[in-house]
Amino acid sequence: MSADTLPPSLNSLAGMAGRVVTPDDPDYDKYRTVFYGGIDKRPSAIVRVTNVDDVRRVIATARNEGYELAVRSGGHSVVGHCTTDGGLVIDLRDMSKIDIDPDACTAWVETGATAHQVTEALSQHGLAIGFGDSGSVGVGGITLGGGIGFLVRKFGLTIDSVLAAEVVTADGRQVLVDAEHEPDLFWAIRGGGGNFGVVTRIQFRLNPLPHFTGGILVLPATPETIVGFAAASMSAPEELSTIGNVMPAPPAPFLPAEVHGRLVILAFIAFAGDDEAATRAIAPFRALATPIADMVKPGPYVAMYPPEDPNYRPTAVARTMFVDAVDISMARMIHDYLSKSDATMRVAQLRVLGGAMARVPADATAFAHRTQRMLINVAAFYQGDAEREVRRAWVSEFAEALQPRDDGAYVGFLTDDGQARIRSAYPGATLDRLARVKLAYDPTNLFRLNQNISPASPGAH
Ligand SMILES: Cc1cc2nc3c(=O)[nH]c(=O)nc-3n(C[C@H](O)[C@H](O)[C@H](O)COP(=O)(O)OP(=O)(O)OC[C@H]3O[C@@H](n4cnc5c(N)ncnc54)[C@H](O)[C@@H]3O)c2cc1C
Repeated sequence: MSADTLPPSLNSLAGMAGRVVTPDDPDYDKYRTVFYGGIDKRPSAIVRVTNVDDVRRVIATARNEGYELAVRSGGHSVVGHCTTDGGLVIDLRDMSKIDIDPDACTAWVETGATAHQVTEALSQHGLAIGFGDSGSVGVGGITLGGGIGFLVRKFGLTIDSVLAAEVVTADGRQVLVDAEHEPDLFWAIRGGGGNFGVVTRIQFRLNPLPHFTGGILVLPATPETIVGFAAASMSAPEELSTIGNVMPAPPAPFLPAEVHGRLVILAFIAFAGDDEAATRAIAPFRALATPIADMVKPGPYVAMYPPEDPNYRPTAVARTMFVDAVDISMARMIHDYLSKSDATMRVAQLRVLGGAMARVPADATAFAHRTQRMLINVAAFYQGDAEREVRRAWVSEFAEALQPRDDGAYVGFLTDDGQARIRSAYPGATLDRLARVKLAYDPTNLFRLNQNISPASPGAH
């Protein structure tokens, strides 16, 4: 876009390599759309950056002209932090190069790539990085928050495979961060989110995954199967990670019509090992009840990310928490709350943690919840503002019943929970250390559209 067609305050973006999409551009609506519905912000420009120099120029423009700055990789922020009303968006989706070194088992990945793109590219080499349960999530956002997914017990969090990264900081410098260079910043970006700069590339260690078994297992949900599912997930070998969604059965073609709307455990089962060991490890789940659907089978790991509908725009309220275990009274509570709600979709998602994730010391990265045993997300979908408040109240009451103590939170699943829960995401000394790093690298809080850590002197949090 030429300087003539840009407002004067954006003149400094003229002639850059990437595309500057302003409200008069025919693609403006397409590019400003984010994953979640109900987020309808109108940036002054969405800049589809293609290189580090582009990133630097947008940062300088935002700083010098006083624009609010949003950073977007995959656009899956649950609260729309990746867009802004009237500000500038650094949109990294055109920076999605994946450079794999199969001999060294490492890869440099530009952060605009999606989890699916990376997983597919690695699949050809029998290698993997553990991302989350959605293939369209951006590498940038999920990695900076921590990354809890299908391989968490076998290979740890996504950040546990991070070797180095390139970051453009608020003053426009490009810095390489790793264990030796800028170690505080390297520590902070592994769990501290987008608070410290624009991360343009990440170097990952790649995990060998020659054999994999996985897929969806659907069981009837009763208090007994819920407690059994949680217990089986906890006692499983660490090659096995599960995500159990207790929810009304969706009208999916793989489920018989008479089941639609009935409470089920729609579970993702992921076993990182050989076929026979997989069969043994999955047997206790299959024995919990006659499966309604069993699509768990050997195959490539990338099959865990089936094609997604690009027009899917859910509107939901949610709350995340950690718990120690699910006992029968908690399982009854889960069953009761979900049975009584009339939200079109409502869910309690159970994720058993442990294994490789728990072996990393709590202070090695900014994700300090290493010894938490289990993560639960509760969520309800809504249509319109009036219903949102009803669903929000239900989610709060349900979450409070399951976990009366505020015992921590995973930053990647926080919504608009507020400052107290950001504190919960960063327990002990973690938040103070993050605030010190923030003060050093972003003293004016230019990067504030995130679960924000304010630059503060030590002890201020
Ligand atoms: C359907 C769905 C499923 C999910 N499942 C999982 C899961 O299984 N496990 C899990 O751990 N999380 C999961 N999440 C949460 C997800 O990891 C976070 O919402 C994450 O921030 C999304 O990353 P993104 O790049 O797609 O989002 P964006 O909206 O593009 O980015 C979110 C925020 O991250 C920061 N950010 C993103 N990229 C960069 C960058 N390159 N440099 C600096 N800052 C950046 C910015 O602050 C930005 O506002 C899920 C979210 C959704 C919507």
